[in-house]
Formats: sequence, structure tokens, C-alpha cells
Amino acid sequence: MRKRLKAVQKDWEQPVFNDKAATDANFEAMTRLLLENHEYLYAAIGSHNVRSQAWAIAIAQTLKIPPRRFECQVLYGMADKLAKAIADRGYRVRVYCPYGELIPGMSYLIRRLLENTANSSFLRQNLEERPIEELLAPPVRQEAEGRGQKGSQESEEDMGTRRHGDTENSSIQNSKFKIQNSSSPLPFINAADTDYANNTYRKEVQQALQQVRQQLGKTYLPFINGKYVQTETHVDSLNPSNFAETVGTIGLISVEQAEAAIQAAKAAFPAWKRTPAKERADILRRAADLMEQRRHELVAWMVLETGKVVREADPEVSEAIDFCRYYADEMERLENGVAYDYPGETNRYHYQPRGISLIISPWNFPLAIPTGMTVASLVAGNCTLLKPAEVSSVITAKLTEILVEAGIPEGVFQYVPGKGSTVGAHMVKHPDVHMITFTGSQEVGCRIYADAAILQPGQKHLKRVIAEMGGKNAIIVDESADLDQAVQGVAQSAFGYSGQKCSACSRVVVLEPIYDIFLARLVEAARSLNLGPTDQPSTKVGPVIDANARDRIREYIEKGRMESEVALEMTAPDGGYFIGPVIFRDVSPTAVIAQEEIFGPVLAVMRAKTFDEALEIANGTRYALTGGLYSRTPSHIERAQQDFEVGNLYINRGITGAIVARQPFGGFKLSGVGSKAGGPDYLLQFLEPRVVTENVQRQGFAPIEGVD
Ligand code: NAD
Repeated sequence: MRKRLKAVQKDWEQPVFNDKAATDANFEAMTRLLLENHEYLYAAIGSHNVRSQAWAIAIAQTLKIPPRRFECQVLYGMADKLAKAIADRGYRVRVYCPYGELIPGMSYLIRRLLENTANSSFLRQNLEERPIEELLAPPVRQEAEGRGQKGSQESEEDMGTRRHGDTENSSIQNSKFKIQNSSSPLPFINAADTDYANNTYRKEVQQALQQVRQQLGKTYLPFINGKYVQTETHVDSLNPSNFAETVGTIGLISVEQAEAAIQAAKAAFPAWKRTPAKERADILRRAADLMEQRRHELVAWMVLETGKVVREADPEVSEAIDFCRYYADEMERLENGVAYDYPGETNRYHYQPRGISLIISPWNFPLAIPTGMTVASLVAGNCTLLKPAEVSSVITAKLTEILVEAGIPEGVFQYVPGKGSTVGAHMVKHPDVHMITFTGSQEVGCRIYADAAILQPGQKHLKRVIAEMGGKNAIIVDESADLDQAVQGVAQSAFGYSGQKCSACSRVVVLEPIYDIFLARLVEAARSLNLGPTDQPSTKVGPVIDANARDRIREYIEKGRMESEVALEMTAPDGGYFIGPVIFRDVSPTAVIAQEEIFGPVLAVMRAKTFDEALEIANGTRYALTGGLYSRTPSHIERAQQDFEVGNLYINRGITGAIVARQPFGGFKLSGVGSKAGGPDYLLQFLEPRVVTENVQRQGFAPIEGVD
């Protein structure tokens, strides 16, 4: 069930069969494969289905396989007559019975009961005294097996499952929340991530990596007023897995070039504002299609420029595509506004763009975040300047190529790489800029918020600032948690992309009764993560972004050593900015490493006596971005839903990887100001609402100019 739901949620091919006959047919195919290879392996055919065992024997006879090269297996007491019949024919039979601890034994027994009493089970049908021809008939697969292509759409019923999760376990199901999209005629369809279990996709991405490697070292220039322009200063963007390798050289704009870009945006604004929303939306949709076509290539650039592993870079392409398509749909939804008409009076509520919009993006989601902020601003009708983080500017140059190819007009979108503290700050303070959309650290976000509030000479408006900032995200693990799930979810949330996600888990608060066992298991799970260059398929944890980040994280690790005890510290390879995962134990909730965002693979584990105390610790920072709970106690789940102070709360799953229109993303407190990205309120921030009221009672007509 879990595998099936996971595939549905990710829009992947079904990895399991939905139909019993298909399972039986597959069993027979596997039996043949095993027996055909009897020279290399010894097959054991375990089944109480007479046909399945007879099939094995028939193959053995046809292929003249010696009876001692395989065996049939049945459970003690379950198919005694079958066992005897097979043995009488001279074949080996092993009769087995479960043995061991009570609790695993009980779950085994329940599975057996479910299987054997199912209507489709051979044993059950046998008891019903079906005709022997029917019982022994070859299995026939049903036509619609539901094993579609990557990205294929599910039936309406399945769509429901995909969007709403496993409703069996969902405590939301009976609560006050309305299920999103259930009544909408066209629910949003997310782009599917690549299923790398499929060898074809693995090969394709490896080829893309080779091709991208051949393009390393090129120069990327700013794109101002429809042209790529030369610059006086440049910066090299290095591969964090191997800093001897230059991924690309970026031309950085000067203050004068920033000025030119702002003037070009002003000139382009009137026409872009009047461009119908549908036309603007269609440019975004074309950009989404281009990203889908260039998916593997974009993944390869992220692997090499920002040290992401393939499996983490691929969902980012999906997210960027989703942002384009979702905001395109959203703008079309908002375009018509609302009519609040009364007799004799029309009241039309509608939106207009704000004007010149500056986007300042971080490096850690080098494609999805700049794409989301930029396309939201553009589709709303704003002329938009994108200033990326210096270390991920090659990927944003690729985004620029895509937007240009999709047909964005001159001056409407401009790519203005530059140094944040100089040129970035200059544009923030510019009197002609109407809004700033920032994602990055709390320190820079607060600076921008303050700078934007100061009215500059000649400025005739107040600036709108959206600032998505950092987090110090906690996961609570209570004594009722499924530890297998919790250990895996915490390790993935803490060490995925070396902890460099704003949503990453950096604190785990564990209830006293399971603290020691949880910690021991977590340490082992983290120890098993492969650390290395991200173009290696076996790598789970790559490098951190640059030397500054590495040194800052190392300082935090030193502080951590003074404040608490190291439970795990892994050694790191040379050649790149690697830092092995570090786990600190028994960390005080007020310690520096429990309060400040480290943005690296460093995890603080804390102990709590009660659930209330755990919640208090989790809420005890300045941030409120993501949080998680592993629990099977309904009252704890309910408490967390109410009182866990985070923008995105995840229950019994990892806390990273938000999906557009499914988990709109963003925090509050010092984690940010603004509505959630990928949610229904986001675009409104890029628009100015207006109301036009007209008295439409008859009052005669004015003469039309030029007509007597
Ligand atoms: P950062 O704050 O150092 O830089 C972000 C951007 O701001 C860069 O483009 C940088 O050049 C620019 N900048 C720096 N100083 C500036 C100034 N004075 N004026 C104008 N622009 C300036 O952040 P980063 O290291 O790129 O990203 C990591 C941070 O981003 C982490 O704190 C992380 O939590 C946060 N983040 C938050 C979210 C979210 O959605 N809440 C998402 C991703 C990252």
C-alpha cells in the first residue's frame, strides 16, 4: 500500500500489481527465470497455490532440471496434502513454520489471515469447491493495469488519493479543513519527478552530466534591455565538490548598469501592464515546457554548480515547472476580478501590477526559488529584475535563456547578477523600484526590510517587501513514534543537501523513554550515508556551497563541542568543501547550536521529559519555518496541529521537499514576511487591488466628441 501511494503521489509507474491475476502471472514468470538459471542458483518456490507449484514442476520436467536443484515450500498446517503430493512425485518439499518473538509473529499471523481469507486467495477459492479447471486456469491480467508512463495522469479516484494522502490515517479527514481541489473541475497537476529506479533515466542524466562537463568554463553575461552586456568585473563559479573546476565565469553588473536596467524596466512597463494576462501566462507555460525538455541538463548544472545530488536536483526542476504553470493559472483566475454590483451601481474589484520589481535569490534552490519569485512577478504584469546569488549564477543564466526563448519582451525581464552588498543594496534603495522579493538569510532580509522602508528623494510610493528567511527547524519524536520511520525521516531531513535547506531539520527533540535507542539508531543511519562528489551516483551527502560556508559551519561545530557532547562526527574527503554529518547529543535548548541557523549538516539532539516540554523546546527560537512530529498518539498530533509554531508542519514524514499547490511554503516570526510560495495568496502580493464604482442609473448621454 505504501509503495503504491508513494508512486501515486509522485506520478510514477505503479511498482506493484493492482490485480491478483497479474501478481500470479508475474510469480510464474519469475519461477521460470529462476529455474532456467538452476545451474547458478537454487530456487525455493513458496506457494499454497496448486497451480503455481505445478507450474514449477512442469518447467522442471520440460527443462530436465534434476529434482535436487530446487525445492517447493509450504507453511506447516496450511497445505499438507499439497506437500505430500509433491513429495510423492519425487520432489523436495520444505515445510516451515514461523519462530521467534511474539510481536513480529503476531503481525506475520495477521498478514497470513488477511491473505488467506481474501476472496482472491487460492486457499479460500479451494474451500468454495470451485471447479478444478477454474482453479488451475492460467492467470489472465486485466487490461487496465495502471502502470502508466512517467508523468501519466491517474484516474479521478486516484487523483483524490494523490492529493489528499492516506485518508485512513489522516486526522485532517474529519476535521474542519475543506479538502482542497475536491470540488474544483481542474485540480492542479504537478510535474512528475524522475523515477531513477528506471535505468533509462539514469543513463540520460549521466549523458547530460557528460555534455554539461564539456561546456564548463564559459562566460555568462547580464541580460539588460534585451541584450547580453559586457561587464568590467567577473567572478568564477566553482564546483563545490571539486573547487579546482570552474563551472562558469559570471559578469557582474556595475551600479551604472543597474541604473540602465531600471530605466529599461520603466520604459517597458506600460506595454507589459496592458498585455493580456493570457499572453503573459502563455510565456510562463512555454518556459515550463522548455524546462521539461531540458530537465536532465538543468539537473546536471545543479549537480556541478551547487553540489546537489541528482535525486535532490530533479525535484527542483519539477518545482520550477510547477511554479510557472501554477502562477499562470492563478493569474488567469485573478484577472477577472470580482463584481460586487448593486441595482444602479457597478462595483468592480480588480488588480493591477505594482511596477518595477526586484528579485533577490539565494543559491540553495538555485533554479526553483528564482524561477518562482520571478515568474510570479512577471505574470502579474511587473517588469522584473533578477539578482541571483553569486555562487549559483550559471543556473540563473540558464533560466534567463529559457525565459528569453519562451518570448519574454525586452526590458520586461532582466538578469542582473551582481554583488549583493553593493549593487543589490543599491537597487533595493532605488526610488523607482516598487517591490522587492527576497529569499535568503535573516540578517540580509532584515537589512533589506529596513532599507526599503526609507523614503528616497523623489520616491512617490512605499515599497512592498516579501522576505523569506531562515529557520531552526525541529522534529519532535515521542514515545509512540514508529522509530524506523522517524530515524529515516530525521536523517533525510537533517543531512539531505548537507543540511543546506531552509526547511532542514537542525534540532530533534526526543521524549525520554526512547531517547537512547533513537539516538543510537540515528547515529548508525547517519553513518551509513555516503559522503562524496555529487556526480557520483552512490553519493547521498555532497559538499557545502563554498569555503566561507565550510569555515562558518566548522566554527559552529567547535562551539558545539564546548556546549555539548559529540555523538557522531564523520570524516570528510578532500578536494571539495566537504563536511561530514555531525550529531550533538544532550544539547541544551538555549545553546548557540540550538538557537542559530547553521545551514550545514549539524544536528542537535535534545531530551524532553513530557510532550509539553518537547513542544516548548521546539517553539523556543526566533524562527517559525518548518517543524515535524513523529507520533502515533492522536492527542499529541492534535496538540502539534494547534500549538507547533511553524509555517509548515509535517506529521509522520520528513520535513523538506514542499510541493507547489500541495504544501504552499513559507514561515513567520523571523522566518519571513509574506504569503506562502506556491499557494493561493502568493500572486496577490505582486498586485495592487483597485475598485471602480460607477453609477449606471440613466442620466442622459453626453454628446460624443467630433459628432454633431
Ligand atoms: P544570503 O542572505 O547571504 O543571500 C541571499 C541574496 O541576497 C543573495 O543574492 C545575495 O547576493 C543578496 N544580498 C546579500 N546582501 C545584500 C544586501 N545588502 N542587499 C541586497 N541583497 C543582498 O543568503 P544565502 O546564503 O544565499 O541563502 C541561504 C539562506 O537563505 C539561509 O538563511 C536559508 O534559510 C535562507 N532560505 C530561506 C528560504 C525560505 O523560503 N524561507 C528558502 C531558501 C533559503
